[in-house]
Amino acid sequence: MKVAFHTLGCKVNQVETEQLKEEFIARGYELVDFTREADVYIINTCTVTHTSDRKSRSLIRRAIRSNPLAIIAAVGCMAQVNADQLAGIEGLNLIVGNRDKEHIVDIIEEYLAAGSHACRIFAGPLAASTSLKIAAYTRHHQRTRGFIKIQDGCENFCSYCIVPFTRGPVRSKKPADVLLEIDQMLSLGYKELVLTGIHTGLYGYDIPDWDIGKLLQEIFTRIKGRYRLRLSSIEPLEVSETLIEIAVSEPGFCRHLHIPLQSGSDDILRAMNRRYDRYYYKKMLSDISKQIPDIALTTDIMVGFPTESESDFMQSVELLQELPVYDLHVFKYSLRRGTDAALLSPQVNEAEKQRRSQLLINIARQKKSEFIKGLDNRELEVLVEKKTGPDRYQGLSDNYVQVELKSRQEITGEFVNIVLGVNGTPIYKAASDVNR
Ligand code: SF4
Repeated sequence: MKVAFHTLGCKVNQVETEQLKEEFIARGYELVDFTREADVYIINTCTVTHTSDRKSRSLIRRAIRSNPLAIIAAVGCMAQVNADQLAGIEGLNLIVGNRDKEHIVDIIEEYLAAGSHACRIFAGPLAASTSLKIAAYTRHHQRTRGFIKIQDGCENFCSYCIVPFTRGPVRSKKPADVLLEIDQMLSLGYKELVLTGIHTGLYGYDIPDWDIGKLLQEIFTRIKGRYRLRLSSIEPLEVSETLIEIAVSEPGFCRHLHIPLQSGSDDILRAMNRRYDRYYYKKMLSDISKQIPDIALTTDIMVGFPTESESDFMQSVELLQELPVYDLHVFKYSLRRGTDAALLSPQVNEAEKQRRSQLLINIARQKKSEFIKGLDNRELEVLVEKKTGPDRYQGLSDNYVQVELKSRQEITGEFVNIVLGVNGTPIYKAASDVNR
């Protein structure tokens, strides 16, 4: 039997797909590309915006067209909260939410054995007791960086966000299982691991005496060798002194923190239920950048949250211009039924969201180029990620700078030290000069 996957949305969804692939392989299935004919198609859906919903539906339809006789399963976040909407798609066989997603192989085998083609829905509620399974990887995935899901769920209920409804309460992977997964990924050859979760900074919330800082300390104490760890994201209120101490003192911890801001207006932050203000955020970033030279601070910012006035938006613009950020991801607010913000008025129209988004994207470009200029003549440790042409390679520094390299020797997967030239251009070196 051939199985094909398509994944939408966040890194957690991507990691979960890799886990599912392993389970299908263990049961004797052959993985094929989503564009090929398969017997089973799994679409790991996302529902954070209306665009994700639209893409999820369109991929389901594409799979149905590819092989109308195949079993088509929509799994994940959209299946969890919008099962009724998906059930209207003719030809879709299974709708499996996040609680049951990890049992998808069994569900498919039972469905095949039953011989019916009627659509079945598995979208029960997620409970705090739903534990996180340890992943067992046997093969290197398509990415050079390995992603480890350490946590699931969120209970923050930011007023615009559907995620607490799709992912349920906070559940953390047992520390011993995280360590085992790291060992496993390192033995598969990964040299950089990204600890990821739906709300990564709440790791340990459900395990007495554990938090993200303690987990990082434990990893660096127990697992030796040349590798580096990156945190996918951390909320402003969870950046602890321990975390900063680790970032300052532990060479294996990447100088990169992604700390979502969302708005520069205190009124909007309050309406978003974000529980910090612009002063808190600005001071925190300024303190971090003083303590950790050249750290890459990246952020998320939302435009067009309901009631966001021009003056609120300008406060985001001004704050971003002052912040020591390297890059920002700009999101346009998308109304999600069931969230508090969906009931707020006035909503901002699409054209205005687009205008605000474009302005912030321009600021993002300017910020990125300022950060890179500030790195002139700095030596950076780069993990070479891929070959891009004859003697050409691409890699990523610990502080998230993408670098092009030239080498006559094969250097994919190796750490190399380079010196950035003017405006961030790397000083290309012949293979023998590449400092390994
Ligand atoms: S912290 Fe807020 S934005 Fe992030 S997943 Fe939780 S509710 Fe959504």
